[in-house]
Amino acid sequence: MELVGRHAREVDRDARFPTESMAALRRNGYLGYLVPAEYGGMGGSLNGLVSDAKDLAGACMSTALIWAMHCQQVDCLVRHAGPDLKSEVLPRIASGEIYLASVTTGTGGGHLMSVDDSLTGAPDGNLLALGRTAPVVTGGEYADAFLVTMQDDTDHSGHGVSLIYASRADLTIRRVGEWNPLGMRATASGALRLDGTVRRDRLVGQPGRFREVSHDSMIPLGHLAWSACWLGAAQKAFSGLLHQIGKTIRVDRGSPLVQERIARIRVDLELVNAYLRRTCEEIESQRDRGQSPNRPDLHIHLNTLKIAASELTFRAVDRMVQLAGLAVGYSADAPIPLERVFRDLRSAALNYSNDRLLTATGILSLADRSVRLL
Ligand SMILES: Cc1cc2nc3c(=O)[nH]c(=O)nc-3n(C[C@H](O)[C@H](O)[C@H](O)COP(=O)(O)OP(=O)(O)OC[C@H]3O[C@@H](n4cnc5c(N)ncnc54)[C@H](O)[C@@H]3O)c2cc1C
Repeated sequence: MELVGRHAREVDRDARFPTESMAALRRNGYLGYLVPAEYGGMGGSLNGLVSDAKDLAGACMSTALIWAMHCQQVDCLVRHAGPDLKSEVLPRIASGEIYLASVTTGTGGGHLMSVDDSLTGAPDGNLLALGRTAPVVTGGEYADAFLVTMQDDTDHSGHGVSLIYASRADLTIRRVGEWNPLGMRATASGALRLDGTVRRDRLVGQPGRFREVSHDSMIPLGHLAWSACWLGAAQKAFSGLLHQIGKTIRVDRGSPLVQERIARIRVDLELVNAYLRRTCEEIESQRDRGQSPNRPDLHIHLNTLKIAASELTFRAVDRMVQLAGLAVGYSADAPIPLERVFRDLRSAALNYSNDRLLTATGILSLADRSVRLL
């Protein structure tokens, strides 16, 4: 953690991939966190993932998101890849050889279930041709393999989206855009063009049935792990702020206004933490029973987690900036990184748009008239 934190400021400033932190995660087996022990991985739990993502984000939010999204892809493979793909790839992930990136966003926007680019059958019936423009790919230039959503023209049952595993060796990869954003700068999430052919057994889940993989794995993992990252970053920033009160932050602890501001931050973090833990328990217990979280109330809980965590952690850090004042709250040279965390957390509502989740949650709520709250 010390190493990850040491590089956080510089990788943010230079908008560069945190190679040192990722090398440490690879060396220490953390790429295999969710790989079952039978494939040589850590066999970690969702609850453990949430805890570790929080800690990592306290040190470097970008590194934490990169790791969390890698684990999200691993979970899709563990639960939905065929036996050949699993036995070939999971041990290599566990040994730290394969870092996985995610390609779901397309040129048409962020909607998870639609893709403009089509997967087509190559002349050899066992091969599929993949050509994908990917506007935002976290760590894409450093990834050893990708899980890519594609419109599946080989699926004759309808117009479904498929998820496909493609290793770097299967692809020609071109950078087609720069990455110079407000925050999350060290995720190096620039635009790529991917072209290549992959074997048919690289499909993850059934052809055209990405929706099932996403509901069972990609969405629950994403919302739990992202929320954990945002909370961890805000929690560590709050702790730093409290330590600076009376030192670099010269506010009157006895002032009711100061106390109220501190309390409001704490309340937001408490609420996110409780909702995150409870949602994680709910998903874990569904999985223990061998069930997919494919029920309106469970979708609502996951969406609520993502919306609440993204809004409340950002509001909390915004309040921290106000409380800390100009010198400590708003300066990149301050002793605590409030300015960086503020910029990083501004991305939370965009990283899968809250607008999309709110409209989906409204529709789902109409289908859950008994209102099964978490
Ligand atoms: C740090 C970071 C890392 C990322 N990493 C990856 C990655 O590795 N791989 C990947 O594929 N993607 C990645 N993304 C992209 C992410 O998953 C989303 O696709 C993207 O942030 C959505 O961007 P958008 O708001 O421009 O697009 P959209 O979601 O398409 O939204 C476009 C506009 O439409 C509005 N809108 C959308 N739906 C509605 C609605 N129902 N009602 C009203 N308005 C609506 C939005 O508010 C927005 O203004 C990453 C994003 C971030 C911030």
